[in-house]
Amino acid sequence: ISYKQLKVEDNTDIIMEGALIARDRVGVQDFVLLDSHTSEAAFLNNLRKRYQENLIYTYIGTLLVSVNPYKELDIYTVTQMQLYRGVNFFELPPHLYAIADNAYRVMCSEYNNHFILISGESGAGKTEASKKILQYYAVTCPTTEQLQVVRDRLLLSNPVLEAFGNAKTLRNDNSSRFGKYMDIQFDFKGAPVGGHILSYLIEKSRVVHQNHGERNFHIFYQLLEGGEKDLLCWLGLERNPQKYAYLIQGRCAKVFSINDKNDWKIVRKAFSIIDFTEKDLEVWKSKVHPVDGNLLLPILRAVFVSLQLLGVHLSILQEALTHRKIEARSEEVLSPLNVDLAFYARDAVAKAIYGRTFTWLVNKINGSLANKDSTRKTVIGLLDIYGFEVLDTNSFEQFCINYCNEKLQQLLIEMTLKAEQEEYEMEGIEWEPIPYFNNKIICDLVEQKHKGIISILDEECLRPGEATDLSFLEKLEEKVGDHAHFVTRKLADQKTRKSIDWVDFRLLHYAGEVTYCAVGFLEKNNDLLYRNLKEVLCNSKNGIIRDCFLLSELDSRRRPETVATQFKNSLMSLIEILMSKEPSYIRCIKPNENKEPGMFDDCLIRHQVKYLGLMEHLRVRRAGFAYRRKYEHFLQRYKSLCPATWPHWHGPAAEGVERLIKHIGYKPEEYKLGRTKIFIRFPKTLFATEDAFEI
Ligand code: ATP
Ligand code: MG
Repeated sequence: ISYKQLKVEDNTDIIMEGALIARDRVGVQDFVLLDSHTSEAAFLNNLRKRYQENLIYTYIGTLLVSVNPYKELDIYTVTQMQLYRGVNFFELPPHLYAIADNAYRVMCSEYNNHFILISGESGAGKTEASKKILQYYAVTCPTTEQLQVVRDRLLLSNPVLEAFGNAKTLRNDNSSRFGKYMDIQFDFKGAPVGGHILSYLIEKSRVVHQNHGERNFHIFYQLLEGGEKDLLCWLGLERNPQKYAYLIQGRCAKVFSINDKNDWKIVRKAFSIIDFTEKDLEVWKSKVHPVDGNLLLPILRAVFVSLQLLGVHLSILQEALTHRKIEARSEEVLSPLNVDLAFYARDAVAKAIYGRTFTWLVNKINGSLANKDSTRKTVIGLLDIYGFEVLDTNSFEQFCINYCNEKLQQLLIEMTLKAEQEEYEMEGIEWEPIPYFNNKIICDLVEQKHKGIISILDEECLRPGEATDLSFLEKLEEKVGDHAHFVTRKLADQKTRKSIDWVDFRLLHYAGEVTYCAVGFLEKNNDLLYRNLKEVLCNSKNGIIRDCFLLSELDSRRRPETVATQFKNSLMSLIEILMSKEPSYIRCIKPNENKEPGMFDDCLIRHQVKYLGLMEHLRVRRAGFAYRRKYEHFLQRYKSLCPATWPHWHGPAAEGVERLIKHIGYKPEEYKLGRTKIFIRFPKTLFATEDAFEI
């Protein structure tokens, strides 16, 4: 959002502007106005000061930085929402609502599309922020009785997606294990009339494996805790999660902060409002006949029920899980799997079913949010996507996540620079190129056709039986070994002094170095399901399973796209979607690892400030001019500093400002005069003026 879009209608902002510029114990509300030039220490200091006063939001220009308070603050009430409604950006303290309202107002007046990109690491508060923005629109936008349903569906899509897509992890008790982009559609009156959701990379592996202290997806525990007796009986399930190996690998089925029973009720209610028919719910209902537990041994009962649910015959599934079909010279041969491979096949089926039914679920929700009338609509998109991730061991998943962040960083830099440039052009101010680090070079390293890491990985995936994770590493070394942002063991000593393992490669991301362990890259990228297992699922009698595994897949001779390529393509189209819209940004910061209120861990936060590219953003915003305001507003605020403009200036505001700054002694290098605004290069100039004004 460039300042040009901020429409100033009355004088209240001039009074509030004083509050904005004020530097006191609560720091500055906009980092652009920090006294000392863009030092990280000053940045952190300001953030800390504010956090300690429960002021969790701070701007960098029009970007909002948010620090997770880990406690309920009294700033999300309906009264607060009303306060921010229709009010100019800088009139009130920084808030999510100001960002939400500004996007909404500009959308209504200019009839264009917007997006709000929310990023940050796990537990930083992205999902909370996106929910609060959605609530803001639900409460403040005009609506009709008819549209209430849409509003409710938009709101209730959250608990459903969270039940199936979120899980307790070590970092966050409600961690989103997928990326989410949601368009909210508005009609010409500004009423929300529909929506559409895109989901990215659901973490399927969690279905079969959880680290210590983590859980499977919430829905399983909700179902066991809250599911009605009849339902559980139908499903052949026992209430006790300890009975299910897939649910207790993290040894923490019960979580203090989570009320599974209650959450189940919310999800059930949401299902009925989102318009799931009973037929849709067959995934856990119909077709399965009550099983008399006394007649079958528990393990057989479980198999029996699973078969009924999956809609396949025992002998067929049994064969598929214990054999592999190999095509040899136009002949199909069944080769038995050993126990480990059979477990592997079982897990692969579980992951595939979960991954695909999740996509089915998203489509289903989209169906219920779809607005079918063809009148033109404008949208505000909310992007809640995983932040840059550096774990002790980084694998394929972190590689994808960090690549995604690299792309979004590029988008931010390009769009911010573009907005700055446009503003300067519009104001007739000479454009001075801003030196900044363009991370396109890293994006290219990952995504370029033929030469990029993803292409090299895909090529290796095409050589089954021959290629290994190590041969992939060797190919990397051969093809991108001399790239400035890439390091493997052979090159480690030359480029960095830190040692690096044989199986590792290291990328120098914009946010810092990350070492990836190549083990498992090939398998995860291929994500193959044995053909005979796929056949079984494609022929299922369960409608949902059949919807998820289409028969046409079996006929197709084309290799399915690899996971990385699919992800790359979906990111490319996401970037395209975003590029056509007006941006707003929210950067979320996690203040400590203990989920504790009031604790500001300097070291942890410094890292995030870097990963989130905040200093880079500040530099871009500050490289040109720190402060800019319309002549009328500048004059109105400071006119008392010059006898010629006080108490009234009758000529054009621009001339008044010229007289004023001449009088108070601005040096030529400190400012520029545009068509409608004065641009001040350094905050100190503004502060000096502000101080003189206060005296
Ligand atoms: P992930 O990437 O793991 O999904 P996230 O960034 O989406 O993480 P959230 O789930 O939004 O993180 O937040 C984690 C927790 O922090 C919330 O469950 C809540 O307890 C707390 N929290 C976040 N934002 C706020 C807020 N504005 N006010 C109070 N508590 C908050
Ligand atoms: Mg989240």
